[in-house]
Formats: sequence, C-alpha cells, structure tokens
Amino acid sequence: MSTKVWLSSPHMGGEELKYVNQAFETNWIAPLGPNVNGFERDLESFLNQKTKVAALSSGTAALHLALIECNVGYGDEVICQSLTFSASANPIVYLGATPVFVDSEKDTWNMCPIALKEAVNDRIAKGKKPKAIVAVNLYGMPAKMDEILAVAAEFDIPLIEDAAESLGSTYKGRPCGTFGRFGILSFNGNKIITTSGGGALVCHSEEDKKRAVFLSTQARDEAPHYQHSEIGYNYRMSNICAGIGRGQMEVLKSRVEGRRKMHDFYTDITKNMEGVKMFSEPNEDFYSNHWLSVITVDEKLASRNHEDLRLAFLEDDIESRPIWKPMHMQPVFKDAPYYGENVAETLFNTSLCLPSGSNLTDDDRKRIEKIMMNVFSNKKNILVS
Ligand SMILES: *Cc1c(COP(=O)(O)O)cnc(C)c1O
Repeated sequence: MSTKVWLSSPHMGGEELKYVNQAFETNWIAPLGPNVNGFERDLESFLNQKTKVAALSSGTAALHLALIECNVGYGDEVICQSLTFSASANPIVYLGATPVFVDSEKDTWNMCPIALKEAVNDRIAKGKKPKAIVAVNLYGMPAKMDEILAVAAEFDIPLIEDAAESLGSTYKGRPCGTFGRFGILSFNGNKIITTSGGGALVCHSEEDKKRAVFLSTQARDEAPHYQHSEIGYNYRMSNICAGIGRGQMEVLKSRVEGRRKMHDFYTDITKNMEGVKMFSEPNEDFYSNHWLSVITVDEKLASRNHEDLRLAFLEDDIESRPIWKPMHMQPVFKDAPYYGENVAETLFNTSLCLPSGSNLTDDDRKRIEKIMMNVFSNKKNILVS
C-alpha cells in the first residue's frame, strides 16, 4: 500500500520543539512571551523594509484588523480580488461593508489594474469611494504591484496586500507582504511555513503595530482595572505557536527552494505536452515561492482535461484541487458588484493545483509523473487520427 500524497502538508524543520520546550520550561504558555517577540523580529528581519510585524491568531484576523485600521465600517465598500480564498473577502463583511470584486489579468492571475481603475471610477460615480483595496499574490505569484499601487495612489485609497500565500516571494526584488499600507501573512497548516495556525499583520510604523496589538488583546485601556473604550478582539498569537514559527523561520528559505523545485519538476514533465501549461512567472520582475504549483489545461488542445487528471490522481490516493472558485461566482456573494470579464472564471474552469509540498519524496514524484504521462499522453489523439 502506498501512502497518500498531500497537496500541501506541514514540513517541520526540527528546531520547532526547542522553542516550544523553552516556553514550557519558563511557563510562558499564555499569549505573549519571548517567542512572540522573537518570531516578530525574525519576520521583520526577513521582510526588511523597516517593517513592524504583529503576530496574530490567523491571517483572517490580520485582514480584519487591517481593514479596521483603514477605517472600514458599516456601509462602506472595499475592492477585493475575485480569484482568491474566501478569507480575503469575509472580514469585509464582518465589518458590515460590501466587497466589490475585481477580475484577474492573465500574466499573474492577480488583480487586473485596468479593471481595478474601472471599478474605482464607477463606484465613485455611483456615490461611494472605496475605503481600501485588497490585492492577493495568488499561489505565491506577486501581483502587478507597480500598476496596482499607481491606481491606489491616484485615488488615495490604502492597499492591503494579502500575502498569505506569498511569504518568500519577491516583486522587483522586494519581498511580498511589504507593498501595501498593510500586509497579511498566514501560518495555517497548509501554507509554506506553519505555526499550526496563525497569521501576522505587516505594518510600516510602530503606531500601526501598537494599534493592532491593542485591538488583538481586547482593547484594554491603560488602567489597573479592566476598562474598555473600544471593541476589542482576541486575536493575538500564543507563545507556543510563535515557538513553532521561530523554528520554521530557520528553514523558510529551504522551503521556498523546495516548492520552487516542485514547480521545476512539473515544468519539465509538461514542457512537451500539447495544451498543458504551468502557472509561471511572466518575467524576471516576478519571483514566486510557488506555494502551490498549478497546471492549466486547454480543453481544445489536450487529450484530456484538468478534471480527468484530478480523478486519475484520486484513484492513486494523490490529492489535487481545483483552483479557488472566484468570489463573484460564490452563492454567498451573488449580490456583490463585479468588474472585469471572464479571466478568473476561465482559469477556474481549466486549472488544477498539484501536490506541491517541500516534503514530497522521489517516490511521490514518480507516482505523480506516471499518472500525468498517462493522462496527457497523445496516444489517444494518435489513435483517433
Ligand atoms: C490562507 C489564506 C488566508 C487566511 O489565512 P488564515 O491564517 O487561514 O486565516 C487569507 N487569504 C488567502 C489568499 C489565503 O490563502
């Protein structure tokens, strides 16, 4: 019996337990403590750019606090990339605001700057200027940041960079997560590094970070008793989780290399397959951590489609997944405004996320390759013609 091949599973480095043990030995089990501070410092020095990082309980929590710090409230509108995980959009709704979804462009699969500008202009014409823009670096691929930031600057709207999937990626040499007024990181179990569950808010001033920490620890005023002038949240990362994070930061670079090697592996297999393409950087400005390797299958050219591949993988206990279903196609967001054409929709209908973990073995890769060769061999075409 061969074992299951996962899409993206946790990959521990070995030093995580050292930090967790330190937390036990010093009884820093509760929130805060040396690992939280240490993990934040590790992230700040990795990201550079004089960032101030607040470690939180999840990426979703980080996005929620970023929106609050951008003064998003009831009745407001926030622009959001449509092709993403629902966690990019949900916190907008937590605040009683409305997401306005924007299509992707074909080079990076991320927010289309042209559709973004059209959306902002139209929302302003309809009477409401959007309060923030949430752009995503999908599967690790940096968005067209220069173009998106130019629109954000033109209309003076803060950018929130959802870098939950792109820690270790760079755009024009600058780390993803550092481009917006705020950046969002996630350390969920399936991400490139994990704290079992967690996230971080990347800020550019001590003041912004302080406010995030204040809000994430129940918004307590400075007083010996419990006093509150604002609604707070229980969103701070625990010292135990941060210990795992410290160990993971020691291996982040090698995790990026491991994921990028998986992308190379797939590029090699598919380079001569007709109608089959890997999701890859458009040029050297973009450096993706390739958190997930994604394949696109042109149904008119290839002998089989992406769903045939998914089912063939499944039969051999290999996990693969369709890409995120765009938010403007989701039942829960059916009434939200949408700007763009059908780029995200077409990608959704033709693409599949492949096993991408940095911990896959040569044996796993052999099984994967065999199935892909089977499904996309041109034998079928040759027999027909
Ligand atoms: C994982 C993810 C999030 C949410 O992060 P959590 O830590 O799971 O809350 C947000 N946005 C994107 C694009 C993600 O992939």
